[in-house]
Amino acid sequence: MSGRVAIAGGGLAGIAAALDLADAGAQVTLLEVRPRLGGAAYSFERDGMTIDNGQHVFLRCCTQYRALLERLGSAGLTELQPRLSIPVVAPGGVEGRLERSDLPAPLHLAGALARYPHLTPAERLSATRCALALRRVDPDDPGADRLTFGEWLGAHGQSERAVEALWDLIALPTLNVPAAEASLALAAFVFQTGLLRERDAADIGWAAVPLQRIHGDPAERALARAGVEVRTRCRVEAVRSEGAGGFAVEAGGERLAADAVVVALPNERAAALLPEGAVDGGAERLRALGSSPIVNIHVVYDRRVMEHSFAAGVRSPVQFVFDRTRGADVGDGQYLVVSLSGAEAEMEEAPERLRERYLPALAELFPRAREARVERLFATREHAATFRAAPGQAALRPGPRTRLPGLVLAGAWTATGWPATMEGAVRSGHAAARVALEALERPRAAAEVVA
Ligand SMILES: Cc1cc2nc3c(=O)[nH]c(=O)nc-3n(C[C@H](O)[C@H](O)[C@H](O)COP(=O)(O)OP(=O)(O)OC[C@H]3O[C@@H](n4cnc5c(N)ncnc54)[C@H](O)[C@@H]3O)c2cc1C
Repeated sequence: MSGRVAIAGGGLAGIAAALDLADAGAQVTLLEVRPRLGGAAYSFERDGMTIDNGQHVFLRCCTQYRALLERLGSAGLTELQPRLSIPVVAPGGVEGRLERSDLPAPLHLAGALARYPHLTPAERLSATRCALALRRVDPDDPGADRLTFGEWLGAHGQSERAVEALWDLIALPTLNVPAAEASLALAAFVFQTGLLRERDAADIGWAAVPLQRIHGDPAERALARAGVEVRTRCRVEAVRSEGAGGFAVEAGGERLAADAVVVALPNERAAALLPEGAVDGGAERLRALGSSPIVNIHVVYDRRVMEHSFAAGVRSPVQFVFDRTRGADVGDGQYLVVSLSGAEAEMEEAPERLRERYLPALAELFPRAREARVERLFATREHAATFRAAPGQAALRPGPRTRLPGLVLAGAWTATGWPATMEGAVRSGHAAARVALEALERPRAAAEVVA
């Protein structure tokens, strides 16, 4: 198979698509506007520290993402829990644990739920019944994508307290909107895939080193080995159909001719540069998917204040907090990162305001923080971290095919069935490569018939 493929966007979707296409023999050029690959999951230098733009976690069920890391040679730089275990801490040090046993799903969570201290016994029983009902919601049912998860939870007896202390603990970080705003269909997918079908699916993994060393840097090496030409600092300005299945890509002041193009950009960017009429519903459809922000608050203490690798907070503005001390040059101190999903309010808040709210909140969860000195505090904010996982999302997310054969879409926001995750991005890249290959093979098949 031969053919020239241009890929716009060097995030996980573009990287996965590029490797598949190069493996199949295509001549691939990857165009990325930033100076580095890795897209939305990246690291940068600040005051001598390498900082991730935001804490990223994955689950054991993220099989395609994990396979990509194997290919990149960076899987060994991640940690994966042998079994799901999330410490859940409330102010005053009340601590519970959401952890699994070795029983088959969904019984693997029954013990943890029965002991969960942040709900009353009646709430625990009701939550168990509700989880069993959630197993029966069809994530592909358009009706389920018209409701919010919050409405459904309410109709299944879940109080606001239970939503906050249990359901949002999972919904917020995976969907990047609270249950009250999330699509029931996507929430059902997350809970079924992660928690209710396979006992080990939700074992949690995370990067043990900065993200750039897990994604961007090894991807550059793997792409070079595969023969992909990578052009960084190269902005794709427009993609045009040239007729007869050819395309012209305007990028970095040049015009590239291609037999197929994979547009692996965020939805807003893709909307801006796709040729008119390429997608049913047009650019407006892609824009209507919208976005949700994530804010991370980075705090360096002069001593250890938290014993866990990570923990969730309840009855606290702290959602999840991760210990990122390993590899950070903080002496005897501890580097914590508070990860805030659906963080509309925190996007707008001044650093002093975040400081006033989050330092006392951390001290309430981890009493040793009261005595500790804060050596650094800063925030990283991603206003369009993910698409908005609200009702109606399914109809807005296009698949890889456009109306122009050979022009293909990828990205965590496309119709992968997954929420906007690294797994969804990688899956979308593989799907896009398959569709691009079909298009590349088509002209040759026609030529053979003529011959
Ligand atoms: C703070 C934060 C925390 C997150 N946490 C998690 C998590 O815990 N777990 C999880 O699974 N996912 C998480 N995500 C989501 C995950 O990072 C994304 O879903 C995934 O990385 C998206 O990959 P992608 O390839 O689809 O898109 P992107 O990574 O957005 O890649 C698109 C690329 O296109 C480039 N680009 C844009 N415009 C142009 C142009 N005109 N020309 C050329 N290139 C262009 C961009 O620079 C970018 O590199 C998080 C995201 C953020 C921001």
